[in-house]
Amino acid sequence: MPEAANVMDRLVSLAKRRGFVFQSSEIYGGLGSVWDYGPLGVELKNNIKERWWRSMVHEREDIEGLDAAILMHPKVWEASGHLAGFTDPLVDCRQCKNRFRADDPRIKGSPGQPDAQCPVCGSKGMLTAPRMFNLMFKTFMGPVEEAAAVVYLRPETAQGIYVNYVNVLQSSRQKIPFGIAQVGKAFRNEITPGNFTFRTREFEQMEMQFFVKPGTDQQWFEFWREERMKWLVGLGIRAERLRFHQHTPQELAHYAKEAYDIQYEFPFGWQEFEGIHNRTDFDLSRHQEASGKKLEYLDPATTERFIPYVVETSAGADRTALVVMVDAYHEEEVAGEKRVVLRFHPAIAPLKAAVFPLVNKDGMPELSRRIFDDLRKHQKVFYDDGGSIGRRYRRQDEAGTPFGITIDGQSIQDGTVTVRDRDTLLQVRVAADGLAGYLAERLRS
Ligand SMILES: [Zn+2]
Repeated sequence: MPEAANVMDRLVSLAKRRGFVFQSSEIYGGLGSVWDYGPLGVELKNNIKERWWRSMVHEREDIEGLDAAILMHPKVWEASGHLAGFTDPLVDCRQCKNRFRADDPRIKGSPGQPDAQCPVCGSKGMLTAPRMFNLMFKTFMGPVEEAAAVVYLRPETAQGIYVNYVNVLQSSRQKIPFGIAQVGKAFRNEITPGNFTFRTREFEQMEMQFFVKPGTDQQWFEFWREERMKWLVGLGIRAERLRFHQHTPQELAHYAKEAYDIQYEFPFGWQEFEGIHNRTDFDLSRHQEASGKKLEYLDPATTERFIPYVVETSAGADRTALVVMVDAYHEEEVAGEKRVVLRFHPAIAPLKAAVFPLVNKDGMPELSRRIFDDLRKHQKVFYDDGGSIGRRYRRQDEAGTPFGITIDGQSIQDGTVTVRDRDTLLQVRVAADGLAGYLAERLRS
């Protein structure tokens, strides 16, 4: 798919040029599969996270927020199964030093045997037998680097929610069913990262764990599956590029009874960027057993005791931002000229509007500054007086800015300005006094 690959290359290049995403530590040659968000990227990602938080925590009475630490007691990962089970069998090539998953379909023969052939350098008999490799990043707490001091960077945010489940339940006076939502970083030492920010070793999750009575889990699972798809479509992502993928028994994680991925059709194929999982009572039961602390729920109505089931919605904030960028990216021709435009939903666009004095004289800069100073109290807006108006429009199209506000000669006379719509390219005259209200109405989601 050379064309598809090119689209991705052009998006990566635009992301760097316009300040969405930079390679980590680029001046030192970069750190593999680690990325930094620039001025526009951090606004985009913050807007996505903020919208998620609002829909999960603020708009619902039955979900509480949490911000747990990245470092946790090592026993958490024993109980959760991550220490024993969160591993991939890997093989190394002793010739070229490349490392592969043992089930890499490109490997011919059985690794460890003389017939096995390295898919990169082609050497025979140089592949080691498969060895288990844990995906958790390990470090040491305190001054001594010894086994007793080992801690892990969390590979998922969910465990911080489970170990706080009773704290949140008691302090918030919630009753089951209820949920806990969290946005935070997680780390996995992936062996085959790649595709820009799609598979990275450090990433941010937006996770919500919904605690329900056993027997009602199926109904809540269906509910959250539909809710999450609706939310993504509301984010402006084209519905025809989204689909569910149900996990087969082979794909199911060790804790899951049923799971669906939400996939997006990237230029590199359909890929998962969010999951809805029925984790049953696996995690809470394991933590109750390992900690010796009761994690049962006492139903006040029936006086029944049970360990709740958990329905999880787990989204990658970075992957969602990538989906939004890929989906918004358009190359088109306008009046015989090529333009690149990011058609972000206005509510999550990094910049909401740009203010342009048509020329830098005749009172236009002064009026433009006044308008800009007023608007930036309400929205993230940008001031640009450099270059032709056409060039300024194109720069904002590439940034995905929904509205361009131009102050011209008529503005000085009658106090109106033109507002250009990024998508329709239509221009309307609006009273400068009413601009804040005009924008607010159009940015409401
Ligand atoms: Zn090799």
